[in-house]
Amino acid sequence: MLKSKSGPFGEKISYYCKDCAKFVEGQQVSRKYVFRCPICKTKNVAFGTEKSLKNFFHIDDEPGDEPKASHKKEEADKK
Ligand SMILES: [Zn+2]
Repeated sequence: MLKSKSGPFGEKISYYCKDCAKFVEGQQVSRKYVFRCPICKTKNVAFGTEKSLKNFFHIDDEPGDEPKASHKKEEADKK
């Protein structure tokens, strides 16, 4: 598990794999700010505060949020 020491931004840092589309435990690659996903092994991992990541990737994991009011089945009835 990640230790609770402050990260490079002085806040708790989360890692988000764009391939897995979820938060992961980023594994630092060498000494650069590059992180590898432990699941899919790619380096397609963004990092930052959980708040900023959710905002950036439009992640909604809070229940009770407004449902996706996308296209309804209107075309099926239009005949
Ligand atoms: Zn991944």
